Amino acid sequence: MHMNINVTKSYLPPLEEYVAYLSGVWDRVYLTNAGPLVVELEKQLREYLGVKHLFFVNNGTIALQIAIKALELQGEVITTPFSYVATTSSLVWEGCKPVFVDIDSKTLCLDPTLIEAAITPQTVAIMATHVYGNPCDLEAIEEIAVRRKLRVIYDAAHAFGVTYKDNSVLNYGDISTLSFHATKLFHTVEGGAIVTDNDELAHKISYMRNFGHNGPEAFWGVGVNGKSSEFHAAMGLCVLPRVDELIRRRKEISERYDRLLADTPLTRPRIHDHTRYNYSYYPTLLPSEEVLLQVRDALNAQDITPRRYFYPSLNTLDYTDKQPAPVSEDVSVRVLCLPLYYGLEDEDVDRVCSTILQALGKEAAVSQ
Ligand SMILES: *Cc1c(COP(=O)(O)O)cnc(C)c1O
Repeated sequence: MHMNINVTKSYLPPLEEYVAYLSGVWDRVYLTNAGPLVVELEKQLREYLGVKHLFFVNNGTIALQIAIKALELQGEVITTPFSYVATTSSLVWEGCKPVFVDIDSKTLCLDPTLIEAAITPQTVAIMATHVYGNPCDLEAIEEIAVRRKLRVIYDAAHAFGVTYKDNSVLNYGDISTLSFHATKLFHTVEGGAIVTDNDELAHKISYMRNFGHNGPEAFWGVGVNGKSSEFHAAMGLCVLPRVDELIRRRKEISERYDRLLADTPLTRPRIHDHTRYNYSYYPTLLPSEEVLLQVRDALNAQDITPRRYFYPSLNTLDYTDKQPAPVSEDVSVRVLCLPLYYGLEDEDVDRVCSTILQALGKEAAVSQ
């Protein structure tokens, strides 16, 4: 009997390490509100990621919402239809109108050559996602944003530790947001962060994520509860020292998939040049949705659960204007993320690949 192989499995550190942090929490009886573990995690994250200001918050969606509020965005925001639903829903939630610009068919990130044509007098910002950790065309987006006086938010939920030309991708745009959800490469069970190198924005964000509190009795503007707890920070402090090892093993697994699936019609997104990648997902494009469903069913029959991610294309959501985005719509029906996590064994990868080869009608001759 095989164990179920899911698309992802949360990394858990040795229990004793987590418990050691908890015993400190029990000693202090300080559970939340910028406690010492939260402060320590923020410091370590700033150092590890190479960023100026970083605010640890309770999830990646509130990070996006606070980013939109901090930039006081009102009107149209140019965004990608190929992302997780939170990228679009946070804009709508904050009263902005998402204007979808299609993606590049190779990198699967927002196609910068289509941005200009979507700009109207109501356009205030661009919100783009580093899809699967693959950096957007940072330079092209920056050039347009400066020239057209638009703000830029990067949804960097997948891009933990990714660099472009040896600089963190989080240092581009006005604000970048991270998700530390349990399924992400680096996680704090639930969590996220807001990153900026702008001192004025950082000041605003620091108040916004804590109800606007300026001391116990005064307030500085409208805020929300974006704080996280000592328990979540403790998980982050246990996972962070292992991130390099997690990335190393994910790279190894990804390269094994590459080898075993090389001789198939499956294709892969192109990673942007000058990128240090984090191997956060293993997306693969099938020739058609029909073949995708065939392959998915064959995997499910073996108790292997890949994920259609991202699906559906966000421009098809009911609460949008449903502007067409043909590339995103095509990619979203053909893309499948294969299992990728620390702890996935080589034999598991081989079994996933032989099942795919069989479903594609090939000989299941998976050789090393
Ligand atoms: C995970 C994710 C989010 C949301 O983060 P949460 O921490 O789950 O709220 C937003 N955008 C993208 C691209 C994501 O993958």
